[in-house]
Amino acid sequence: MTYTPAENRYEKMTYRRCGKSGLKLPAVSLGLWHNFGHDTPHDTKQAICRTAFDHGITHFDLANNYGPPPGSAEHAFGSILKEDFQNHRDELIISSKAGYHMWEGPYGEWGSRKYMIASCDQSLKRMGLDYVDIFYSHRFDPETPLEETMGALDYIVRSGRALYAGISSYNTERTKEAVAILNDLGTPCVIHQPSYNMLNRWVEKDGLKDTLQDLGVGSIAFTPLAQGMLTKKYLGGIPEDSRAAQGKSLATSMLTDHALGNIRKLNEIAEGRGQTLAQMAIAWVLRGGGITTALIGASKPSQVVDCAGAVGNLEFTADELAEIDKYADD
Ligand code: NDP
Repeated sequence: MTYTPAENRYEKMTYRRCGKSGLKLPAVSLGLWHNFGHDTPHDTKQAICRTAFDHGITHFDLANNYGPPPGSAEHAFGSILKEDFQNHRDELIISSKAGYHMWEGPYGEWGSRKYMIASCDQSLKRMGLDYVDIFYSHRFDPETPLEETMGALDYIVRSGRALYAGISSYNTERTKEAVAILNDLGTPCVIHQPSYNMLNRWVEKDGLKDTLQDLGVGSIAFTPLAQGMLTKKYLGGIPEDSRAAQGKSLATSMLTDHALGNIRKLNEIAEGRGQTLAQMAIAWVLRGGGITTALIGASKPSQVVDCAGAVGNLEFTADELAEIDKYADD
């Protein structure tokens, strides 16, 4: 069936400036790490993307290795772009990354110029795109000079393969170095993609969150729902269709009595705010404006709707934050 996007899609979402750049991102973005491989029907993937766009989610985040198998999420997204979003390319921010293992041999992972540029070309081909909006170094490579990896990002932008450059999961020290190198090259680092949620606060402890604000670099927090733990779904056991039950990246050993006790308390706080726990978890990541956007995943369209609804209340009282701090530990 032909897809016509919701006319009121831009009324539903809040858009936030990405650091000091000209780019604005939706407060909630959608990632395609899980649920876009061969293990998920095409109709489901399509429905998730349509629902996201209908709710003003203009940013879709991918990487070379998302699947399974690696590359299949980009393939699937390429088909969806062709089927549904051909006339809306300029309304979308599409990102991809290179850094993790993608192909055999010495040139299929990490941060060499050889790998980064070849991988970017492969991603563009899989998605049927001339360019991505953001291209990331997916992880710091301890063996390749940072100048080389950042030089590859600079080239990717200058050659028109990407509009903006970003880095993911670099710690504070490496981030400062990367940002300085990119500034010297004249291709600013526009965005950093770290993990961040109420059960994983390393960006606060490492100083990365403050550093990014000082540097004027935007940020997109991945796994804001701790892979689904920061929702109600595990409070009554492990649902069959959940990520934890399917043996994906969320180990059931994470669902300890201690963690579930904290999540139950956080759920009560969310209810008191008139929000679902997922919505409060997203709002919490975005509190104070330090993080540009929360990068969620979803296995069904209804989850996207719930998460997008977080923008209905992004404010916290000092008492609420103090109460959350009692249970938001890692
Ligand atoms: P989340 O923490 O948002 O977890 C998503 C999962 O939570 C969903 O698959 C679903 O689980 C559950 N969920 C989502 N919304 C709801 C809801 N409203 N109610 C109940 N359950 C819900 O993020 P992800 O772990 O999926 O990561 C998001 C994105 O971050 C990735 O797609 C990727 O783009 C990026 N990422 C980047 C990394 C990097 O190294 N740069 C690493 C990891 C992720 P279920 O499937 O059980 O229904």
